[in-house]
Amino acid sequence: MTIPASRPDVGGLIDRYGRAATDLRVSLTDRCNLRCTYCMPAEGLPWLPSSEVLTDDEIVRLVGVAVRLLGVHEVRFTGGEPLIRPGLVGIVAAVAALSPRPVLSLTTNGIGLDRLAAPLRAAGLDRVNVSLDTLDPTRFTELTRRPRLPAVLAGLQGAVAAGLTPVKINSVLMRGVNDGEAPALLRFALDHGYQLRFIEQMPLDAQHGWDRSTMITAEEILAALQSEFALLPDPVERGGAPAETWLVDGWTDAAGRPARVGVIGSVTRPFCGDCDRTRLTADGQVRACLFATEESDLRTALRSGADDEELARRWRIAMWGKRAGHGIDDPSFLQPVRPMSAIGG
Ligand code: SAM
Ligand code: SF4
Repeated sequence: MTIPASRPDVGGLIDRYGRAATDLRVSLTDRCNLRCTYCMPAEGLPWLPSSEVLTDDEIVRLVGVAVRLLGVHEVRFTGGEPLIRPGLVGIVAAVAALSPRPVLSLTTNGIGLDRLAAPLRAAGLDRVNVSLDTLDPTRFTELTRRPRLPAVLAGLQGAVAAGLTPVKINSVLMRGVNDGEAPALLRFALDHGYQLRFIEQMPLDAQHGWDRSTMITAEEILAALQSEFALLPDPVERGGAPAETWLVDGWTDAAGRPARVGVIGSVTRPFCGDCDRTRLTADGQVRACLFATEESDLRTALRSGADDEELARRWRIAMWGKRAGHGIDDPSFLQPVRPMSAIGG
């Protein structure tokens, strides 16, 4: 990677460490129909006022700036829960019509995906990640505070039927809650042809309840999986991908290729040096990192009449200031004020 001498005024989203952000995460809403204990309190959060949330046209305009002027070639929609945004299918269609066409994906809790998968696929969505932390209906209800496991399972099936493949599952393990389920989750994923990735729990919960000493580490996840499966090193280069992947010996995926399992060790195995992300919140703030404590307000600029070049210039400035790493292990680490659900996970 080349270290730039100064911030470029044209071209892509380069930071002072030479990283280029080409993968945009767009939060479509901070609201959600679940209340996962590691993400939101039971009563929900003070939601963004609707006047501050970007309109569908404003989202498409900003994504267009990122794609046409700033070198972004992958766009992932998230939230909160993106499937509850009324204009979702139209937003996907408009972003898929951009040139050059970005790869489009969505991170969702899966509720309603049985119904929405086909229209989203027709609009141009390429892939989905569905979050599922437990296969036990009682535990699911405790963990998400809603009895919706059947809806999530139907959503997964709907995604496959619509061709949003490979369907990925994201799982977060918590000690004393679902940490005994790692092998069962992998068996379920392998049986159905889903690609499973475990995510280490991060200090991004609204309740500030995260505790480094009790989180389930990547090492523990791997040890649990290896009690029932043989994992082999993955010969495919990881690149900027957050997940480290392993081949599951003896298993193939739906396309007949070797089956894989991934672990995203954001805390114990950080990948900040290879980060290629930039983020746009539902209220139009650019964030250089999940853990950034600064944001750049594109909504006000956009609503004040800034042209695309000016919006691109502001986005470049925001990304130039990206820190080298998240610094979770640094004694001076400060959890961002916005929780994960309002940043867009
Ligand atoms: N509602 C959608 C969902 O659950 O997939 C999209 C938003 S959610 C914030 C995105 C992902 O972040 C989910 O896979 C969720 O499990 C994960 N997540 C939420 N809080 C987290 C935390 N504190 N640490 C690690 N992952 C977290
Ligand atoms: Fe909602 Fe996703 Fe947060 Fe769960 S993790 S409460 S589904 S935003």
